[in-house]
Amino acid sequence: MYSARGVKTSPDLPIPETMKAWVLGNAGELRLTKKPVPVPKRAEVLVRIDAVAICATDLEIIDHGPPASIRGGLPFNKNFTPGHEYMGTVVALGPGVDEYRIGQRITVEIHAGCGQCKRCREGMYTSCHNYGLNYGDVDKGHRANGFTTDGGFCEYQVNAINTLVAIPDAMSDEEATLVVTAGTAMYGLTELGGLVAGESVVVTGPGPIGLLGVAVAKALGAQPVILTGTRDNRLKIGRELGADHVVNVRNENAVEAVRRLNGGKGVDYVLECSGAPNAVNEAIRMVNRGGKVCLAAFPHQETPVDVAHIVRNNIYLYGIRGEGKSATHRAEAFMSQKRFDATKIHTHTFALDDLPTAIRYAKERIDDAIKVVVKARGVAAHRVAAE
Ligand SMILES: [Zn+2]
Ligand SMILES: [Zn+2]
Repeated sequence: MYSARGVKTSPDLPIPETMKAWVLGNAGELRLTKKPVPVPKRAEVLVRIDAVAICATDLEIIDHGPPASIRGGLPFNKNFTPGHEYMGTVVALGPGVDEYRIGQRITVEIHAGCGQCKRCREGMYTSCHNYGLNYGDVDKGHRANGFTTDGGFCEYQVNAINTLVAIPDAMSDEEATLVVTAGTAMYGLTELGGLVAGESVVVTGPGPIGLLGVAVAKALGAQPVILTGTRDNRLKIGRELGADHVVNVRNENAVEAVRRLNGGKGVDYVLECSGAPNAVNEAIRMVNRGGKVCLAAFPHQETPVDVAHIVRNNIYLYGIRGEGKSATHRAEAFMSQKRFDATKIHTHTFALDDLPTAIRYAKERIDDAIKVVVKARGVAAHRVAAE
């Protein structure tokens, strides 16, 4: 029977001692195994994971390692469980926790900063100076589940209470996994200045963050919002999420198209979500003088950037990591008010046991997959992709 000193549980939600968990072996190898159900410490809860979405960053971690860092190194063969975009039900409270109750549905953001470094004190906990220092004798209290600590491709996980976002009953499990994705877009727009009503925004790259970036920018009142990308099916979803214009960069020069669509002028903000090799050089030519560019994608290679153009035109470049400054709470507020329908980017659901199939769908974009979700229980047959 699961029990630990000072930890509150409820007979209504019994917790087993062990759980199913996927662990990373060599690069690209996931194995289903059993692990003890973890125990929450002070200011932490135990979450029963009800749904977890697969992110491009998970695919990167599983195949190559970074940005995950386990015990100061690559995450391979360390009994590490990846997965970070999950939601679930609070089933146990660590000592002293009264901010959440057992049975409450929540979704999570990823980064629990140490709470004591300079950046954490500024609300920039995704840039915590103690990132990854959560092992051995150097436990700084930092967690980034699925990056530096065990993540969500399992049945239960411990979360710091400051990573929890309460969700309404009307929000489905699948939609709740998308709060963190919308939160990343929200964080980008927050760093660019936050108040974008009436200002022009380009989003480059219609991946999950880009598509929800369109939705968040529109909900914040931006006008016009222009989405650029290479796949028409995704650009169509961008339109449904509020894009005023879409540009297929296979057919048209992206910079020229943006200027034409914005009355011959550059736009105020670009949210760069493509990671394409020339994305920065295009973004700095899409913005007007004094405009701001937020970089939200991890590119694969180093690329030369036209610094002189940036300096001459007083252009601001921001790199963002994750979803700081409580952006997920603002994203959830939009979603619970139904200001946009994030579920338009959810395409498939599989059982937790079928994680390798789910990953294959996400990686190879089988059947136009965008966001693929896995669930440990209650996967309705009609939501599972037919093979
Ligand atoms: Zn992610
Ligand atoms: Zn910190």
